[in-house]
This record gives sequence, structure tokens and C-alpha cells, in this order.
Amino acid sequence: MTNLLKTKIDFLVGEKKAIILEKEINVKTIEDLLYYFPYRYIDKSTFININQIYREDVYIQIKGKVVGKEIVKSKTPRLVVKFADETGITELVFFKGLKWINESLKLGQSYVIFGKPTKFQNSFNFAHPDFELLSKYVSNPQEKFSPMYNTTERMKNTFLNSKGISKIMHIVFNYLKGNIDESLPNYIIEKYNLLPRNVALQQVHFPFSPEHLEKAKNRLKFEELFFMQFEHQATKTTRKSKNNGFVFNFVGNKFNDFYNKYLPFTLTNAQKRVIKEIRADMKNGYQMNRLLQGDVGSGKTLVALLIILIALDNRFQGAIMTPTEILAIQHFNTIQNLLQKMSNIRIALLTGSTKVSERRKLLPYIADGTINIVIGTHALLEESVQFNNLGLAIIDEQHRFGVAQRSKLWEKNNVKPPHILVMTATPIPRTLAMSVYGDLDVSVINELPPGRKPVHTIHYYENGRLRLFDFMREQIKKGRQIYVVYPLIEESEKLDLLDLKNGFDAIERSFPLPEYHISMIHGRLKPQDKEYEMELFKKGITNIMVATTVIEVGVDVPNASVMVIENAERFGLSQLHQLRGRVGRGAEKSYCILMTSDKLTTDSRKRIDVMCKTTDGFAISEADLKLRGPGDLAGTAQSGVLNLKLADIIKDEPIMRECRRLAEFILNKDPELLYPENILLKNYLDRHKANTDYSQIS
Ligand code: ADP
Ligand code: MG
Repeated sequence: MTNLLKTKIDFLVGEKKAIILEKEINVKTIEDLLYYFPYRYIDKSTFININQIYREDVYIQIKGKVVGKEIVKSKTPRLVVKFADETGITELVFFKGLKWINESLKLGQSYVIFGKPTKFQNSFNFAHPDFELLSKYVSNPQEKFSPMYNTTERMKNTFLNSKGISKIMHIVFNYLKGNIDESLPNYIIEKYNLLPRNVALQQVHFPFSPEHLEKAKNRLKFEELFFMQFEHQATKTTRKSKNNGFVFNFVGNKFNDFYNKYLPFTLTNAQKRVIKEIRADMKNGYQMNRLLQGDVGSGKTLVALLIILIALDNRFQGAIMTPTEILAIQHFNTIQNLLQKMSNIRIALLTGSTKVSERRKLLPYIADGTINIVIGTHALLEESVQFNNLGLAIIDEQHRFGVAQRSKLWEKNNVKPPHILVMTATPIPRTLAMSVYGDLDVSVINELPPGRKPVHTIHYYENGRLRLFDFMREQIKKGRQIYVVYPLIEESEKLDLLDLKNGFDAIERSFPLPEYHISMIHGRLKPQDKEYEMELFKKGITNIMVATTVIEVGVDVPNASVMVIENAERFGLSQLHQLRGRVGRGAEKSYCILMTSDKLTTDSRKRIDVMCKTTDGFAISEADLKLRGPGDLAGTAQSGVLNLKLADIIKDEPIMRECRRLAEFILNKDPELLYPENILLKNYLDRHKANTDYSQIS
């Protein structure tokens, strides 16, 4: 029967409509169509009297008679139909398809109309409501709830409006006669008391009652979340059943020398714990795929370096890939510094602006293993970059990298893939981590290095600018350094750059030479200029760094203790948190000042409030997810979260959690899915593996 669902819909709807359905809503097969769910339902059991209409924007149903009609010929001609019941009169207004509608709505006839009222002067009317002959309507009393489907202009033009879709659904259900294969094993259906798939699909389109609808949705959500979690867990199981990982058996001189002689501070307990977790992963024979979560400033770089040293001790090379050049340069400098006294380790920096001559020199050394650690941007992914034996690849602040880019790292080795550690820039809410990175193992650094004082966060409106400048002067007098950050987004790049320059000018006027030194960096600067300005700031020569968000991730200048964020209302929460994380790294009390315009939307105000109240990255990421939904959050686009049709990873977290547990349980018991009761699950995976090679995605 599966084939039946996979059948193209052409023969049921005709070629013309089939083409439109595919183009507009990507519906090709019967199955696609069945999974095109209504976005709402009209309760056909209730009618509203015309004199009871009191609000806009709610779909209602009224029963009455056409008592007058007129085509008003103005610039946009319209058909105005006077429609009355015993309690009053209202107007139905149509701007399109006038001729056809005029013929269909006959004077003196009774109809049922559904639509959203709009208030016009002191009464309500309906623009383009759906209508149906009352006589026809009554003849179909069994179907109480009528589905509404999203449609596009082009669909409407081919009679594929909501009603048209509903008709097609009927045709399809008639054709299938309940022959819809079950997708979940029976034992799952029984255990969770789920509706069978054929009933759930029928009821989600044409529910008998709100209770039926609820049960149907529940079953379909479960199915969605279960298969999402099942795929993740299956990928993990496969990875862990293949002996495809390098074994880093020992810890040798490089790690020990560094740890005993050159480690600049005592590791936090959390750092020690995650190093242990990672180390265990790298010697168990399987390829590591681990996510390292930790709040901004929790010391992920040092962890990265220590585990790279383990790779080196086992005669492998290590690589760190970063999303920006500034960050690559910074890691390169930090690590070079830390390893200064260890002359037997060679490190290279490779970015998009590495000179051709320099590249030519480096590449052979990377290829023959002379260079032990390579740090760079996505330039590392280019084909010309070949390693001798890359054992460990660390992806820092991963959210800027797409899945496709990351999977290229696999190809850097012919024999086996390197171990992969993905380090996040900011913590990810649990529920998102479970759905986006479900197939990765997770380590969490849940502790900041000692002595960090929480950054004091203040919100100023534009009228607080003079106070801000006074405060900045005070801080500079104390020897502190300051970031002033402006938003820059592509869509409004020109305006934003202008903003930045104006801001820079204003600061220059208020902080004149020779007393004050100011730097400015933005994405348009040449890399060497950026680096130069960054160096001046690092060395404490400039007092104020005016920048766009290029400094957002990773930048580490401990003496900088004030972060001013201009137009803070334009940033998302995790971005604000990242920016704020640039300060509070040294011993000094640090400040973050959020500048906004006087008028704030409710959402922006909530974001600003969250920032002023908490510095806990995990709490902030949860708030961010709630405020913005998963769509805008890092990584979600590639994760399938956005393909969820019914389930909501926030509201349905308990179901997702249960599904994950269940998937783990099944795969533990039957890792190769050989038991007969798991045949459906095996088939599902086989089908999906054909589309995507999940082993390549981390
Ligand atoms: P992130 O996790 O945001 O990448 P970094 O690795 O940049 O954080 O570390 C932030 C700062 O904390 C750096 O200045 C680093 O040298 C310092 N640091 C890291 N680990 C420790 C530690 N155990 N004790 C004290 N300072 C530390
Ligand atoms: Mg970092």
C-alpha cells in the first residue's frame, strides 16, 4: 500500500492542478497531500446572528438571504451583496471574480456564509467570504467541522482555494477507502494509546468533534517527533557500532608538559570534567561527534587546546575552524602564546586573506604533517588543503557554519573521518539541542572561571547619551577600555554604515585627541587593517573600539570592561549576550549599556528586560526561543525543526522527550532493527537514508 501513498496525484486532480500544487506547496504525491494539514476549522454546528456580530478577525458562520446586489463601478469595481437574517442586515463585498460570484449569489436565495467580519464605519461587513447554498449545506449534516487550508493566489486562480483543496481531500479519501498504511509499530500505538494512522489522517482533515481532532493531532505530532528523534538516535547508533574512529590511546609529553609547566591557570572543575568526557570519546574506537556547550567566557578555547595536544601526542594533526577571520587570528595568537615554550609544535594560520605565496609554502607542510595544528576559517575546507593525518577537527562557534560545510571536514582524510568537536558560541536551550543536535553527544561547561563578576547591565534611552559619555570618561580615567557596537545587517548595510560613521564622529568630538584614542572596525575594512586596529586595542593604546558586530564572537580583551550597544533593540537576545560576553573577562567590574530609541515594541522591551535581569546564558537562550520561536535561532534551518508541521518543540517538549527515550530504548534492544515488530522502522530509515546520508551530518 505504501506505493499507493507514493502515487502522484495527477490522475486524481488532473494535470493542471497537479502542476500548480507541486509548484506552490510542494505537494506531489497522495501522501504529501494528506500531510497538507488545515490551519483552522470552521465549526459548522454554530451560527451567529447578524446582530450578534461584535468583533473582527474571528471566523464565523451566518445563515441568511440575498436581499440586494449592486456592482459599484469605481476605480476598482466591486460587487456589494446585501445579506440579511431575521436579526439584521450586513454586506458581502467582492473585488474579484465579480461575474461568476454575481451569477452564483442569486437574489432571494438562502445561503450560509463563512468569513471574518471587518468593521466599517459603524457596522460589520465581509470581504470575500465563502458561501454555500443553504439547501446543499443542510444535506450534508454529518460533517460538522470544515477545514480551512492555506492557499496562494495562483492556487485560488485554478479553483484550488480552501474549498477546492477540501474537495480534493474528499476525493482522495474516497479513493483510498481507509487503505493508509500504518507507519508506527503496533506496540508503540498500544503503549501510547494512539489513533491508527488512517483514522488520524482522516480526522485531522474532517474531525467529528474537537476531541477527535485533538486525538488525531496528538497521534500525528507523536509520529513527527518520534521519527525525528529516531533518525538522530539511529545515526548515533550506527556511528557507535562502526569501528571507524581513530584511537587516541595515550596522553604523552605534549599534553603533560603543557599541563604541568605552562597552563596559565588552574582548570575549573567543569573544564576538567569535559576534557575527561572528550578524552573517553577519543579512545573508544568510534568517531567522536560531540557538542561542547558553555556560556560565553567559560573557557572553551583552553579545553580545545588541551585535547588537540592529546591528538598530537598520538601523532595526529589537529585543526580549529572559526567563522570569522578575527577569531582565527585571535586563536592563532592565543595558542601560539600558550605554546611559546614548546618548540616542537608547529602551528599555522590559514584564512581567505593568507597571501598566495604564504599558502604555497604552508600547504605542503600541512600535507606532509610538518605542521601540527592548523587554525583557520572556512578556507580550511578548500580542496587544496590536504592533511597528512587529521585526527581532530574543532569547530568553534559553530552556528555560522552550514551542515554541508561541516561535512566537508570528513573528506580531509582518506582512511577515517577525524574526531569532531563542535563548540557553541552560546548555550542552546535543551529542547532545541535535542532537536537540532540530537545525534551529537553533549558536554556542558556549567561553570565560569573563578573571580568573574557578573556584568552590570543598564538600559538607557537616547536622552541618556550625555550621562553615558560622562560615564565612559570616568571609566577611561580608571584605565578601562570600552567597546561601542553598532548593528549592521546586510539589508540595510549602507544606512548602518552611515550610522556607524556618524556614531564614530560623535564619539570623536566628545573624546578628542590627544587625550583619547579611538579605533573603528567593520567588515568592509581590509583584514590587515582590522588586525592592526584590534592590536592597538589589545595593547591598550586605544581607549574606545567602535565596531560593528564583527567583534561579536570570541574576541577576548580582558582589560575591556564596558560594552555599549547602540540600537540594542535591533539585536536578538543571543547576539546581545554574545556581545556582553566580550566584557567581564578581567578582574574589573564590568558594564554593559544598552542604548535604545524611545519607542520600543513589546518584544524589544522584553528582550532588554531579560538582558538587564539575567546574565545566565542558558536562561537567556530559553527566553530567546520563547520570544522568537525556533525559526530564527541558529542551526534550525538545517535541522528539520522547521519542517515540523504540527509539533512545536517548545510546547510539545514532553512528547519529544518521551520519543527520544523510546527511540533510545528500541535501538538499544534492537540496534540493527532485525526484530519483526520493528520492520516499519527499518523501512522508514532505509527510505530516508536514500535521500540524505545522515552519517555525514553532525
Ligand atoms: P569562551 O568559552 O567564550 O570561548 P574563552 O576560551 O575565550 O571563552 O575564555 C575566556 C577567558 O577566560 C579567557 O581570557 C581565558 O584565558 C580565561 N580562562 C579560561 N579558562 C580559565 C580558568 N580555568 N581560569 C581562569 N581563567 C580562564
Ligand atoms: Mg570562544
